[in-house]
Amino acid sequence: MLRIVALAGCAAALAPLARPVRRATALHSTAENVAQTQETSRDKVMTFSYDTERERKYAKPVYKGTGDGLGGDEGEYDVVVIGSGMGGLACGAMCAKYGESSIVLESHIKMGGSAHSFTHGHDGGKYSFEVGPSIFEGLDKPSLNPLRILLDILDSELPVETYQGLAYWVPTSNFDGTGPVRSWRFQLGDPEAPGGFYEALREHAQDGELAIKEFKALRARLKTLGGSTSAVSLLNLRQDAGFLATTAGSLPFVLSHPDVFADLPLTFDSLHKTVDQLVTEPFLRNFIDTMCIFCGFPAKGAMTAHMLYILERFFEPGCAYSVPKGGTENIARAIHRGGAQFGMDISLNTHVAEILVENGRAVGVKLKNGKIIRARKAVVSNATPFDTVKLLPAQDQLDPQMKGYTELKEWRETLGTLPRHGAILHLFVAVDAEKVVNGKKLADHASWRAAEDEISKNPAHLIVQDWGRSMQDSQNLCSFFIPSLLDRSVCPEGKHVIHVYSSGGEPYETWESLEPGSAEYEAYKEERGDILWKALENCIPDARERAEFHIVGSPLAHEAFLRRDRGTYGMAWAAGTSAPYAGLLKFTPIPFPFPNLKTPVDGLLRCGDSCFPGIGTPSAAASGVIAANTIVNVDQHIAMLEETAKKDPLYKFLSPGPFQWLYRGIVSGMTPSPELRGGGAFQPSSGSTVSAEKEMAASR
Ligand SMILES: Cc1cc2nc3c(=O)[nH]c(=O)nc-3n(C[C@H](O)[C@H](O)[C@H](O)COP(=O)(O)OP(=O)(O)OC[C@H]3O[C@@H](n4cnc5c(N)ncnc54)[C@H](O)[C@@H]3O)c2cc1C
Repeated sequence: MLRIVALAGCAAALAPLARPVRRATALHSTAENVAQTQETSRDKVMTFSYDTERERKYAKPVYKGTGDGLGGDEGEYDVVVIGSGMGGLACGAMCAKYGESSIVLESHIKMGGSAHSFTHGHDGGKYSFEVGPSIFEGLDKPSLNPLRILLDILDSELPVETYQGLAYWVPTSNFDGTGPVRSWRFQLGDPEAPGGFYEALREHAQDGELAIKEFKALRARLKTLGGSTSAVSLLNLRQDAGFLATTAGSLPFVLSHPDVFADLPLTFDSLHKTVDQLVTEPFLRNFIDTMCIFCGFPAKGAMTAHMLYILERFFEPGCAYSVPKGGTENIARAIHRGGAQFGMDISLNTHVAEILVENGRAVGVKLKNGKIIRARKAVVSNATPFDTVKLLPAQDQLDPQMKGYTELKEWRETLGTLPRHGAILHLFVAVDAEKVVNGKKLADHASWRAAEDEISKNPAHLIVQDWGRSMQDSQNLCSFFIPSLLDRSVCPEGKHVIHVYSSGGEPYETWESLEPGSAEYEAYKEERGDILWKALENCIPDARERAEFHIVGSPLAHEAFLRRDRGTYGMAWAAGTSAPYAGLLKFTPIPFPFPNLKTPVDGLLRCGDSCFPGIGTPSAAASGVIAANTIVNVDQHIAMLEETAKKDPLYKFLSPGPFQWLYRGIVSGMTPSPELRGGGAFQPSSGSTVSAEKEMAASR
């Protein structure tokens, strides 16, 4: 169980002592409303927690360039999706593909959520930066990545460049994880290949042969579970009885691998339990922690399922990371294009102010501009749970006789206080490669030449300051990404764009009390951002002198641009115990670490990276597809799976096969579940701006 310790006034405790903290007048301080895990040492799990119900009127900072959210027209759709993150777009597009009318409402002027890009003009040139994700595996060709499968379902192309390595800058010179920084390269693909993972282990681990032996043992232990990732896809899932038919294609695998049943609880358990049994070599243990950290936790706290994919796929010959050409936002555009051909609508700069609930049912949304958009079947929220609960009417505005009144109260109080990751600190830098600094151009640095080498190109870098400290500590683990090494369209010739970012453990409270734009705020940005510069200097020693310009993105900016409460990296239920609202799984020995995507409000679903299978673009996209699958009849879902299975030999496993008929007849009439069938949902509400014709059409 997580040890959450109430730590009133933790802002002061976390801030560097010498820095004067001024109480802000513009922002409502919530420092008294935070619980945080107290310890940030390596073996502890760091999370934050707030009571969102206590601060319904808490105003987020508004930043120029993100829109005022006042767009959007009235209307009526089968499905209304709040948010255009990977989850929301996937849900909207799949609903459209299934023939449901859908609209995605996005508060920001750009689509993509955490995966959007922004452009900065400098000296007549345009520089494009991603605000979030940079590492994408399996987007270049049909693969098991749900995001790639989604694009293939939608017949939407995403041009990418590829690379095979991840550069590490870590203190391992003394082999035991201490000492000065050492650089090494994790090469994707066959671990036995020249330059492959085993070569790196032999060179950098304290005992290379032991590390290889232990790594093989770990892969062997998880092999059967890992194999199940090619027996059934996340896209086969739906949250109703229909899943029996849609996942029936995995039966032959399950029957021939009965141990998969015994291992099922392990799938959702914390990975560290298996690692602790099998891996002792420090370099390898450290590597595993960093591979998990993109899901928010190191091995302790990370769901084993997260590592299954990595252990199986990252070591397959031909495996590659991708850089979407033209910037990360093109992933969102590709999903949007795919959905639009089936009629999906999208409305940007359209902030949803409230989810409309009538008689215990979500019947639509009210926009910030006052207009109303009705939902015939479902409203799906892609906003974080912390943002979603605030969109619901206050409990005292609801009729206590309403269906689900008590359940809703309990649910929102629980979801609103779930443990979460901290925020992220960003540094966006453009450097001039030709500028001569102390007699050197950029290419004169050996570290840079290694990064731009044609064969072993490394646009992605990961830096750890101290293996003794938590990987979640934002002043410890950082990453940077240089897309311009592969995609010259993102900035002018002779320049490079670099996004440096901390792990998702930056405390919000020390920032909250500062006023954006004030001298104090700017000074604090530079102070906290120094670690990001240092991370970059491993590769570009004169980065500060070579910079054309730089922007430090604070947690306040992160919150404003990504519309995520307090800029959180996401929900942080450490694997090992069942999360609240884990659905039917809570009655099994399976420690499912996610609340399910249904809610006590009929017709209201959630999707995004706080839903199974968690943080990351593939997971968020998968959750959106699962939400869409849940909204439609199982026959539609199976038709989609069968169609996709024919698109590429690799996708054959998506077909539920003949075993579907064991269940299909029984479950077909049960799907979608009654609360998602619409009907009776459209009692005219006072103040509605939906036209009478539309009301009548809806009720037909
Ligand atoms: C710095 C960083 C680095 C990362 N690195 C990687 C990586 O390398 N690889 C990887 O796969 N993943 C990475 N991730 C994680 C990944 O980006 C996210 O898990 C994923 O993109 C989240 O998608 P989502 O569907 O949950 O929605 P989000 O991205 O959170 O989008 C939700 C959307 O809802 C909108 N919204 C919220 N409230 C409202 C409202 N009231 N009205 C209208 N719209 C609203 C928001 O504006 C937003 O667009 C990274 C994330 C960050 C921040």
